[in-house]
Amino acid sequence: MWESLNLKDVVALARDPYPSIRQWARDTGKKVVGSTIADVPEEVIYAFDLLPVTILGTHKPLKKAPSHLPDNACSLARSNLELALSYEGDLFSGFVLPQVCDTTQHLSDIWRINFPDKYVESYLAPRQADRPSARYWVKEEIERLIASLGEWTGKTLTNEALTASILIHNENKRLLAELYEIKKKNPGTITNKQFFAMMKLSLQVDKAEFNKSLKSIKDGLKLKKGKGYTDVILVGITCDPPEIFDIFDELKLNIVGDTLVDGTRYLRGAPSLNGDLIDAMADRHFHRGFFSPIHDDVFKNFEEVKKLYKETKAKAIIYVHIEFCESQEYDLPDLKNLIKKEGIPMHVLDTEYQTTSLSHVLTRAQAFFESLKGGSL
Ligand code: SF4
Repeated sequence: MWESLNLKDVVALARDPYPSIRQWARDTGKKVVGSTIADVPEEVIYAFDLLPVTILGTHKPLKKAPSHLPDNACSLARSNLELALSYEGDLFSGFVLPQVCDTTQHLSDIWRINFPDKYVESYLAPRQADRPSARYWVKEEIERLIASLGEWTGKTLTNEALTASILIHNENKRLLAELYEIKKKNPGTITNKQFFAMMKLSLQVDKAEFNKSLKSIKDGLKLKKGKGYTDVILVGITCDPPEIFDIFDELKLNIVGDTLVDGTRYLRGAPSLNGDLIDAMADRHFHRGFFSPIHDDVFKNFEEVKKLYKETKAKAIIYVHIEFCESQEYDLPDLKNLIKKEGIPMHVLDTEYQTTSLSHVLTRAQAFFESLKGGSL
């Protein structure tokens, strides 16, 4: 199903992977388990012979979600709930829902009430990741998830199955990291849109199959440096709709680093196979980088963004702001001030799931990068 895709296929499937996931589930007879971002150890779900699918919104209209969530809930939460309630709910046999903010905490309860016949489990990442007890908490939470999945499926997780699953996931991250390096150095070879489509699809399909596509895409690339590109870093949680990447491509922006949950933060999450596997998955939670100031030292985001900016020698930061994201609303004012004091150019791009018109995004980004060329920032 996903083992012989070219870049064009990947871009199309990343926009709507669900028909192919349905077909795959029919062909294999396997169950599909959905989760929302972030930090659910998908290797564990996969090791139970289930397909973990990260739900990243729908582009179809909102019909039911607004009656379940307040107007100021983030558009990602609304879009995810809509996808499950109106469009793809029957595809999933169960859900493992992380609680990373107040919105996701309420969302998982709404989800549970609306799907009484499905398996619904929570995954509780520690709210204060800088506490010494946080690591113990993560390990306990992974073990609780394993016990819960074991009870639901009637299976016992073996070390061999978990090792095999981690190997497939780590291979996926290795291939994506290699493709990212190629893209950064040769922006004429892979567009931003194509690269982030590979990232997104990796979170949604069977990686054992998709890794074969990634390898053949990588082996078949003809390197092109390209001319006139401006290196930038992308900061935020996720970037949608995918047409925003068309705007970056049109403006010849080369994303050379990012902090996205469906970007570098995912790539950093490869657990070591040396030693206890649960310990390794607990450890990686703390190597993944900043996600929200609710969870950690409030200056950590700034320090990480500044470091990335310097390491990549980027010319500017693009911050992708999801409207009404409580985590970003809390984080962004301080980050803006600190970045400004450093004299680093930063453009804030406001996005909303279900957005259909991006002309304002293009106009504002054009103006920002024109003034950057003129040295007026
Ligand atoms: S972290 Fe932000 S974008 Fe993610 S679910 Fe919470 S409020 Fe929405």
